[in-house]
Amino acid sequence: MAAEQIKCLIIGSGPAGYTAAIYAARADLKPVMYTGLEPGGQLTTTTEVDNFPGYPDGIDGPSMMVQLQQQAERFGTEVRIGMVTSVDFSDKVGGIHKVTVDNNKEIEAETVIISTGATAKYLGLPSEQKLRGGGVSACAVCDGFFFKGQRVAIVGGGDTAAEEATYLANICEHVTMLVRKDYLRASKAMQHRVNSRENLTVLYNTEVDEVLGDQVVEGLRMLNNVTGEKQEIDITGLFIAIGHKPNTDIFKGQLDMDSTGYVITENKSTKTNKPGVFASGDVQDKEYRQAITAAGTGCMAALDAERYLATVETEVEA
Ligand code: NDP
Repeated sequence: MAAEQIKCLIIGSGPAGYTAAIYAARADLKPVMYTGLEPGGQLTTTTEVDNFPGYPDGIDGPSMMVQLQQQAERFGTEVRIGMVTSVDFSDKVGGIHKVTVDNNKEIEAETVIISTGATAKYLGLPSEQKLRGGGVSACAVCDGFFFKGQRVAIVGGGDTAAEEATYLANICEHVTMLVRKDYLRASKAMQHRVNSRENLTVLYNTEVDEVLGDQVVEGLRMLNNVTGEKQEIDITGLFIAIGHKPNTDIFKGQLDMDSTGYVITENKSTKTNKPGVFASGDVQDKEYRQAITAAGTGCMAALDAERYLATVETEVEA
């Protein structure tokens, strides 16, 4: 079967992908989006989204993604369920990028916007998985507010855990931070912030043994990995901040990435090392990781794609 030829392919359907789609469609790039395995992205696993401007009463994550999809479709984006399984990006300006969907459909795209996001890592304990959405969360900035004035715990010793622990300490009565080693991996500045909070206790050499509670989190059984001692505390929220994995496996060998697999973009743009291929959202951002920042870079990617196509067309005409 002959490959389908399109101007703009968007891979991934979170806030970055949909915002790119809205802008690309309005610029008449006739974008086609493949949603991936988790249509709507990470926000569909959150309950209330209270920090996206324009929703004074908040909105639940899945509803917000439906609205973003409708907005993208209103301007002509074609949203398709499907998974991009391999890519062959051109090195040339004006080159055609070959993409395979679901291992059997071939697409040739003049521009590609990658917005495949990242996946938060979890510990993998059955009790943790059971209580996801019932007090276990991987995003303090998204869900911390629901635990205002309560006692919570956070797992991790990197910059994210340190930053989120201090964020939680501003809202919650008390925060217990569980660090599996005898030191924090976080930067000195972050460590200082953690150590300066009176309502934040750091427990080193400490891991989660079990999350307690049936429907919602009621407590935590912790294990000291040096002494083998177990201890229980009462908490209502458990935040997991042990890192994210960018969803970039299919781009390995094609795009420049950092040591953890985040796509590297050029300066303040969304340009990757391949002309006509752009990256937006969490797939290229390990620092901010918010729906609103992802949406912002989605907009940038569509503008970068539009400008790239205009340059290519001018060069062809000249
Ligand atoms: P990191 O990979 O830096 O840290 C992960 C932390 O989680 C480590 O302390 C690690 O422990 C711990 N961990 C991993 N797996 C487990 C597990 N199964 N059980 C218990 N603990 C575990 O991830 P971050 O998300 O913190 O940061 C990612 C990158 O983003 C870093 O480069 C960071 O500097 C950057 N960043 C910068 C920020 C800033 O500058 N404002 C803010 C946020 C992130 P161990 O040390 O034992 O491996």
